[in-house]
Amino acid sequence: MTGETIRTVAPGGTIGMLGGGQLGRMTALAAAQLGYKTHVFSPDADSPCAQVSAAETVALYSDHEALAKFARSVDVVTLEWENIPVQTLAFLAKFVPVHPGPGVLAIAQDRLLEKDFVNRLGIATAPWEPARCPGQAATAYETIGTPCVMKSARMGYDGKGQIKLTGDTAPVDAWKSIGGVDAIVEGFVDFALEVSVIVARGQDGEMVAYPAVENRHANHILDETIAPAAIAPETAAEAERVALRIADALRFVGVLAVEMFVTRNGGVLVNELAPRPHNSGHWTMDACASSQFEQLVRAVCGLPLGSVERVADAVMKNLIGDDVESWPDLLAEPGARLHLYGKAEARPGRKMGHVTRLKPLARAP
Ligand code: AMP
Repeated sequence: MTGETIRTVAPGGTIGMLGGGQLGRMTALAAAQLGYKTHVFSPDADSPCAQVSAAETVALYSDHEALAKFARSVDVVTLEWENIPVQTLAFLAKFVPVHPGPGVLAIAQDRLLEKDFVNRLGIATAPWEPARCPGQAATAYETIGTPCVMKSARMGYDGKGQIKLTGDTAPVDAWKSIGGVDAIVEGFVDFALEVSVIVARGQDGEMVAYPAVENRHANHILDETIAPAAIAPETAAEAERVALRIADALRFVGVLAVEMFVTRNGGVLVNELAPRPHNSGHWTMDACASSQFEQLVRAVCGLPLGSVERVADAVMKNLIGDDVESWPDLLAEPGARLHLYGKAEARPGRKMGHVTRLKPLARAP
């Protein structure tokens, strides 16, 4: 116990969801399983989440009238997208508990604040320097050396707003090419593989972590997650320890994903935090006693967390763009667990669904 006030929302209550994507949709499905309703707030009509929710508000995140009405209609608010404006969360928090809260979001929205927070805990990241202006871009590039990666500090995802610098591009030109915005320059990590650990933390400070999983990317988008990651037990334990430490230090309530690089000597470096369910946790829906989405519902509603016990090993594959057209084959494949997100248009790079294939447990969970 950490002395935090616990506000329990019993089954029958309504969860407010900021953002209408597939993460909200799968949370709403888990909420329904436990007897909750979901009210989604999103600027887009007929969102994947709205399709499976009891109520929908279509409005801008800056619309205070709509936000106040929404806040009064729900028992707790959570989110499925980390770039919800911090002001929106702060406004809602005047009416209703919001998990995770505005302070956590402010850190998770900004790579500079995020890396600083992690390093202050004594947890390693790639070496980095801020690049908020042309002068800093040049100095950061000098300090870090090549190869390095320049990333916009905010609003980047799936490799957007990033550029790898190998010595051919002048740092100031690179900085301009990513929009001339607040940025970070990171040393390029020659990693062995990429892993993530998903932690759920309740209102009372109780925490659980799923095992470290390996994430393989294609075109900067997550392609496959292999659960568990085939890494040394000590590396897996260290990745889990790091993720739990960060969640606890943030006094996080909800589900936090910590993306890390595993170095060639088995060390871990934190790359990024996601303060919400994560694509690399979708396998938990089919292979664990409680899914990451159920954990989010439990955490924000003040319920005991569920078991992260793994009942099978799993490989999750994303269905991006036209991949989704393989749905008839996937349905015909014995044991393939197909999840589709209800998106009408299969644009290139758009996450349309995923499929999870289970395997017998290779080693004790
Ligand atoms: P991010 O948006 O920070 O998650 O970066 C997207 C992907 O780019 C990561 O999953 C890595 O594959 C790669 N990447 C990002 N930062 C670095 C880095 N410092 N060194 C090597 N690869 C990186």
